[in-house]
Amino acid sequence: MHWPKLTPETIRQNVFDALNKNLNYSTESILGLPGTFLDQEQFHSAPFLKDAPFLSVLVNNPNHIGCHTYSSGEKYFSGTQQLEIDVIRICAEEIFGAKKSEYDGYVATGGTEANIEAQWIYRNYFMKNNNAKASEIAVIFSEDAHYSVFKGANLLGINPITVKVNFEDRKILVEDLENKLKEAFDKGIRYLIVHLSMGTTMFGSVDDSKSFLDVVRKYFKNYFVHVDAAFGGFIYPFSSNEKDLTFENPEISSVTIDAHKMLQSPYGTGIFLCRKDLIEYAQTEEASYVYGSDFTLCGSRSGANAVSVWMILMTYGSEGWKNVINKFVNITNHLCDKLDEMGIKYHRNPYMNIVTMVSGQFSESLAKKYHLVADNYQNPQWWKIVTMAHVTQDMIDDFLIDLKAERESKILDTEMS
Ligand SMILES: *Cc1c(COP(=O)(O)O)cnc(C)c1O
Repeated sequence: MHWPKLTPETIRQNVFDALNKNLNYSTESILGLPGTFLDQEQFHSAPFLKDAPFLSVLVNNPNHIGCHTYSSGEKYFSGTQQLEIDVIRICAEEIFGAKKSEYDGYVATGGTEANIEAQWIYRNYFMKNNNAKASEIAVIFSEDAHYSVFKGANLLGINPITVKVNFEDRKILVEDLENKLKEAFDKGIRYLIVHLSMGTTMFGSVDDSKSFLDVVRKYFKNYFVHVDAAFGGFIYPFSSNEKDLTFENPEISSVTIDAHKMLQSPYGTGIFLCRKDLIEYAQTEEASYVYGSDFTLCGSRSGANAVSVWMILMTYGSEGWKNVINKFVNITNHLCDKLDEMGIKYHRNPYMNIVTMVSGQFSESLAKKYHLVADNYQNPQWWKIVTMAHVTQDMIDDFLIDLKAERESKILDTEMS
């Protein structure tokens, strides 16, 4: 894995060069496009913009509609679109091990859209190539998968199938998987979308493709595997050498990665990646006024989003980003060491920055004080801590001091959940 770290000045220069290659609403006669710069009353050109490449792109408002790895897209904004192509290349080739030019992808609105895009492609693939009915298609996933998988299934009219996990280690129960597959086959399901997670939202747990697919192959010959790395995509590949859920595994056809989580880019930066010859199945042929056609769920989208991801990636370089992740993993290790000393029960994947503690070991008021997140608020069974950029070791230590004091005092009995 390698991409360079650039100086702030080089980054600035590259972004302005890209912007200069775009069509400019301020200096050219653009009569036909249904787009323009941001409202000038509100976002009039300010002197600081020349030192603010991201804001300059935002104000210029290039539209990145379409899929630029597939076709050249709206030719009007090819400068900044080239930076998006570079973002997709880094994510697909450098982080997720795809071979050069053997993938397509785009910067979606978020992980939700990217997950739905994957389901949409596979559903259409089965309908077109296998003459499948939507009712014969199912998406199967662990009960810890993100709820967007249900959204997609609901929109697309395909069947969602949940597989139970073991309470402690959050691994799928192979016996339940087997039963659910049998049941689905008996109900007439013939086509499967296997949705695996690289870092579930609540537990940071990472699915294992082999144990899942060994069972799937016993019942189904038509299936695709999508990896939801919305949360883990900018963490796990940097902290572990595991390639199971990357394009190096021929079973994996598509990946979701959110830049607006760990990478700290603005909301609206979910990344969708898939192998070549798939994104066509999400093509809307009627999109004839879009130069290069459209393959995405969202349609028009801001080029500034893609540029922000590019800028962050270049600020760190691959080595720098590994160091950032290493730091978060170390803070998480520290937290886990202290929890071990206190005998607190929790779940954690050692390469992730999520620690999810079994409820009942501390008061709800402590959980509230530190804004811990529950698996559900009616009857919490788990509380989680996520070490993100705003979480310092000091904050973790304050929590640990409070936790220890609470356990040592006797006043917890009334508050225990
Ligand atoms: C956050 C998340 C999503 C959804 O992403 P949005 O960007 O909120 O749409 C999907 N899957 C996982 C695992 C997530 O953590």
